[in-house]
Parts: sequence; C-alpha cells; structure tokens
Amino acid sequence: MQNGIEARKAIEMHCDESLNDVMKLFSVSIVIAIGRFAEKRAKAVIKNFGLQNIEDSQWMEKALQSAQTALENGEVPVGCLFVSGSDVIAEGSNAVNETKNATRHAEMLCIDQVLSKHVPFSTVSVYVTVEPCAMCAGALHDLGVCRIVYGCANDRFGGCGSVVNVSDYHSKPVPVVGGLFAERAMSLLKEFYKGVNPNAPPSKVKMRKKAES
Ligand SMILES: [Zn+2]
Repeated sequence: MQNGIEARKAIEMHCDESLNDVMKLFSVSIVIAIGRFAEKRAKAVIKNFGLQNIEDSQWMEKALQSAQTALENGEVPVGCLFVSGSDVIAEGSNAVNETKNATRHAEMLCIDQVLSKHVPFSTVSVYVTVEPCAMCAGALHDLGVCRIVYGCANDRFGGCGSVVNVSDYHSKPVPVVGGLFAERAMSLLKEFYKGVNPNAPPSKVKMRKKAES
C-alpha cells in the first residue's frame, strides 16, 4: 500500500495541474490506460497526416543550409544533421578539402560529435542532403542509427541503392528514405562542379581530348 502511495506521488510530480485533478477522480491504472490510448491515437494521426514529413522537411532545410556553407567554403556541398528526439545533436558538412582527408564526409564528422556526447545511436535520425556513400552508409548501419533520410541520389558512390545497397549486407537494415528536396541538393552539387574543386582528379574526358589534339 505504501508503495502505491509513493508511486502515485511520483506520477503526480510529472503531471500538470489538470492531469492531477483527473488523477484524483480515477485510479492511476485508468489514467495510464487513457494515456496509452492517447499515445496510440496520436501516432496514428501523425502517420495519417504526414506530420513526420513536416518534421523531416524542417530538419532537411537545416542540412541544406550546412551544404550551402560547405559550398561557400570550397567543399563538396553535402550537409548533414543528426537528430535525437527533437534535439539536434550533431551538424556538419564535408571537410575533405580542408583536412585533405577523403574520409571527412559530413556524416563522419557528425558521428564524431555524437561519440563525444554519449547519445545512443539507436535514438538518432540522420538527415543528409546527398545519399550516403558506401563508407558512410556502412558506418551508420554498424552504429545502428534508427533512420536515414537523404536528399538527392549519389550515382557515383551511393551506398543506399544507387551503386550498392549496404542494407542488403546487414542483419538489421536501417530504414532509409530518399528524395527529400533532391533538386535543391543536386543544384548545390552542380553549382560546385561548375567551379573548380582543387582536389578533384583531372577529368578523363578532358585528358583524352588533350591527348588527341
Ligand atoms: Zn560518405
């Protein structure tokens, strides 16, 4: 009985005034049952009305801003955001040219930030403007993130279906959604490749033409 009273007090501490009034009228178990019912209904509403999509769009907007910053800094414009619950826990963009390190993709930078914060990867949703390459897709699968949302496809290095599908090789495939703001992500890439990437290998087409002339 004592335990029951303490449990009720503990629950009351987490409730607002109106919910506590309801608690006085009904037993705790009824209030919990109503809460569970409301949660189930709320999840159904979120699914039916696409609220998840609205949240995804907001986070991808932010990732696109990081990609824009990368473009301004002379990097391949890929932006990435890691979200846990409603918190942004990591944010980054490609830093390959700056570091002269081909593994410093936006996703890898975000992974490093999460490791220092000790947030479980199973709670992390990944938003990245371009389909993760095989290296990043593999790392995200190994770490067990809960979801990956990307913008445009990566026809040269994509690890989520374009070149290889990393999910096929994992016992626990991570759910992946692609194509969110794909055109905007792609136009940033096109903008970059119109300019000069200092670390890009010489174009094979251009080299061939030079040799022929
Ligand atoms: Zn990558």
